[in-house]
Amino acid sequence: MSQPRIIENSPLARLARLKLGTRSVAMVLGRQIHLSGATKEEFLNDPYWVAHEMEHIRQFEQYGRLGFLWRYLLGWARHGYYNIPFEAQAREAGRRNAALYARGQPLPDPATMHQGPKNS
Ligand SMILES: [Zn+2]
Repeated sequence: MSQPRIIENSPLARLARLKLGTRSVAMVLGRQIHLSGATKEEFLNDPYWVAHEMEHIRQFEQYGRLGFLWRYLLGWARHGYYNIPFEAQAREAGRRNAALYARGQPLPDPATMHQGPKNS
């Protein structure tokens, strides 16, 4: 699988960040990872976060652009952001696959991983 392209200071990710009210956001569109509030380096230094977004890329490839977006928005409307099935899968993959993205370093303490919006 080719490397995804990482886009810093993305206006789209900024919109998502304002909507979600979080400090930083990564947002997958196809094979692009759009960042707002975090640099590429900060993102890549968090293997849990990278593994989470790579799962979204896999989902995007499985369902296609429209299929992914449709299911994502439907899941959001039905279950709230935290319980979107794609997000639950990605949180699990973030923990399961983090070692793949640790770049030869020991895995950081899971408590330090990037936090998305909470189930509140
Ligand atoms: Zn996610």
